[in-house]
Amino acid sequence: MKVIEKLAIIQERINAAAERAGRQADEIKIIAVTKYVSTARAVEAVEAGITDLGENRDEGMNAKYEIIGSRAVWHFIGTMQTRKVKSVIDKVDYIHSLDRESLAKEIDRRANRKVNCFIQVNASGEESKHGITPEEVVPFIKSLASYENIHICGLMTMAPFTEDKEILRSCFRRLAECKKSVQALHLAYAPCTELSMGMSNDFEIAIEEGATMVRIGTALVGEE
Ligand SMILES: *Cc1c(COP(=O)(O)O)cnc(C)c1O
Repeated sequence: MKVIEKLAIIQERINAAAERAGRQADEIKIIAVTKYVSTARAVEAVEAGITDLGENRDEGMNAKYEIIGSRAVWHFIGTMQTRKVKSVIDKVDYIHSLDRESLAKEIDRRANRKVNCFIQVNASGEESKHGITPEEVVPFIKSLASYENIHICGLMTMAPFTEDKEILRSCFRRLAECKKSVQALHLAYAPCTELSMGMSNDFEIAIEEGATMVRIGTALVGEE
């Protein structure tokens, strides 16, 4: 199916989820996750009206950036190795996976502007998931005060791999609660207005729980 057709279906589902939650659908930004697809498919997504692309590897981002450049807003959504910061820092608009001070330090050192960062939180407590615990979020953000180029725009999580809607919902709800506690700090460098949560299998629940950015790969650009 063409991306433009898939996008229409996804947008309908976003609209319905937003309506159920009493939210405006235009508060929710779609990030098309293109990590599994070709550059041509990513170009097709941009031409279909997608403004934001997500990649989880520096190679993938660099290859697509070469063709698409600033026609898209770029999101780095994967675990970021400290030594890879240098190769993507001038291209990324958002980093969704800040989870340690050493990474903040490297981003701060390599960037020549403020970089929008999401703190990645392991809101489900699953062993295998990356990210800091909900309890660590406030102290971690406080520890970033001296890094001038780090701007904490929000929190990000990946829900566990399950069909159980209540588990998914409670995970997203926990992230929304964390966001409130960060906002209560009123830190200029951490307005924390965004929630990056929801993927192909769970984005509607994420929207019902307050997602402002959904990261959708398979359901939007997958080539089935
Ligand atoms: C791959 C990936 C996605 C998109 O996953 P789909 O299930 O294909 O929608 C979203 N977020 C992150 C962090 C990912 O790695």
